[in-house]
Amino acid sequence: MSPLRNKRVTRQKQLVYDCVIDRKDHPSANEVFVDLQNTGIGLATVYRQLSAMVDEGILKSFEHSGQIRYDRLVTQHAHFVCTVCDKIWDVDLPEDILLMTPNVSDIDVEGLELTWKGICKACK
Ligand SMILES: [Zn+2]
Ligand SMILES: [Zn+2]
Repeated sequence: MSPLRNKRVTRQKQLVYDCVIDRKDHPSANEVFVDLQNTGIGLATVYRQLSAMVDEGILKSFEHSGQIRYDRLVTQHAHFVCTVCDKIWDVDLPEDILLMTPNVSDIDVEGLELTWKGICKACK
C-alpha cells in the first residue's frame, strides 16, 4: 500500500470518527454519510470505517429499532432514547447497579444494557 493511500484512509477514518464524536446522538452509518456528504466520502466507506473502528475497540455499536447505531463511549453506560426523534444520549450508570448482577450458576454475564425512554428537549 502506498503512503498516499494510507494517508487517504486515515483522513476518511478521521472524518467518520469526528462525526460520531461530534454528534453525541449515536448516529447510524447513513446519518454519518449524510453529514459527510460534502466531503465526497461514499456510503460503503462510511460503513467500512465504522465497522473497522468497532473491531479496533475505538467505537461501540448496538442495534436500535432494527438499525446499527454507533457509540463514541466504549465504557459501560446507560442510554436515554427519545421516543419521538429516536436520538440516543449517554447517561451515567449508577455504580451500585452492578450489585444487581444476577448470581446464577452456568451463566457468564458479559454486560448490561439499560435504556431510559422519554421525550427530549427538542421534541417536547
Ligand atoms: Zn427528540
Ligand atoms: Zn452510548
